[in-house]
Amino acid sequence: MKKITLLLLLTLSLIVQAQDKSPNIILMIGDGMGLTQISAGMYANGNTTALEEFSYVGLSKTYATDQLITDSAASGTAMAAGVKTYNGVIGIDSKNVSHQSILEICHGLGYTSALLATSSIVHATPASFYANVPSRRMYEDIALQLSQHHVDLFVGGGRKFFVNREDGKNLKNEMSAYEFVSDIEAFRKSSSKKIGFLTYDEEPPPLLKGREPSLAELTKISLEKISALGKPFFMMVEGSQIDWGGHGNNTDYVISEFKEFDSAIRNALEFAKANGNTLVIVTADHETGGMAISGGTLKRGKIKAEFTTKNHSAAMVPVFSFGPSSKQFSGIYENTAIFDKMLSTVKGN
Ligand code: MG
Ligand code: ZN
Repeated sequence: MKKITLLLLLTLSLIVQAQDKSPNIILMIGDGMGLTQISAGMYANGNTTALEEFSYVGLSKTYATDQLITDSAASGTAMAAGVKTYNGVIGIDSKNVSHQSILEICHGLGYTSALLATSSIVHATPASFYANVPSRRMYEDIALQLSQHHVDLFVGGGRKFFVNREDGKNLKNEMSAYEFVSDIEAFRKSSSKKIGFLTYDEEPPPLLKGREPSLAELTKISLEKISALGKPFFMMVEGSQIDWGGHGNNTDYVISEFKEFDSAIRNALEFAKANGNTLVIVTADHETGGMAISGGTLKRGKIKAEFTTKNHSAAMVPVFSFGPSSKQFSGIYENTAIFDKMLSTVKGN
C-alpha cells in the first residue's frame, strides 16, 4: 500500500514538473513560401518533405493594414508582435504604437532566444523580432537596435551595417557581451553564452551561387547551443531567399532554397522529437511570384513553373505545427493569430 502511494506521488510530481517547464518554440519562416513553392520543392526532392511529419496544418491570411498584398515587414510584424500594420513598417502598428515581440515577451518569462536567417540579420523578417522602426530600409538603425537587444544568438549577413556605419560606430566593439565568430568551425567550438555570427558583409548570395554555411547545419548547431543554456528558448529560423527566387521568377532558385530550408526543418523536427517539450511552427509571411506548377515529371524531379507577378501575392499560406499546443494551429486565421497562439503556449493557457 505504502509503495503504491509513493509511486503515485512520484508520478504526479513528474507530471507537474513536465507541465511546469515552459515549452521551447522554434518558429520557421519560409519567406515567400506558398503552397506551390512547397509542392515544387517536394516533387523535386523525390516527392518528400519534412513537412509531412507535422501533426497539424492551418492557413494564415497574410494581408496588411492598407494593402491586400503584404510585404515581409508588415507580415513579420503580424507574426512577431500580433498586430497588422502598413507595408514597410517593423514592430509598430497602424496607429503608430510600438509593440513587444514574442521573443521579447518570452525573454520576460525567462526564455533565451536565437535568430537565424539566410538574408542579412537586419532584413525585415528577423528584424520584426527585435526592432521597432517606421521603415525596413533603416538598416543601420535596425543594427543599432540589435546591438542593444538581449538576443542570445544570431546568425545572418549584413556585417557592414555593424562595422561600416555612417555614425562611425563599430557596433561589434559595443557588444562586449558577445563573442563574434566568422566561420562555422569557430561557431561550433564557441562556448560563449552570447554569440554573433555575421556570415556575409552584405546580403548572403543564393545557395546556387555557393552560400555557406548551410542553414540546416546552422540550425542544428544553434539548437545544441541554445538548449545547453538550460532555459526554455524561442528561436526563429528564416529561409529568406525562397522569396528572392520568386521575385526573380526563377524556379531553380526557389526549389534550391526550399530544399535547404526543408533540411533545416528536418533538423528542428528531430530536435523537437528528442526533446519532447518543443513546439515547431513552419509557415510563410506571404507567397511570392504567384507561382503555379504547369508541368514536369515526378520521376526525374523536374518541375516546370509559371509566375504571374514579380511581386508577392495575397494567397493564404500554410502553417505546419508539431509538439505541445500544436493543435491550436489547425484551421484558418489571421497571421496575427500566430503570435496569439505562441503567446498562449508560453503563458500556459
Ligand atoms: Mg525575409
Ligand atoms: Zn519579397
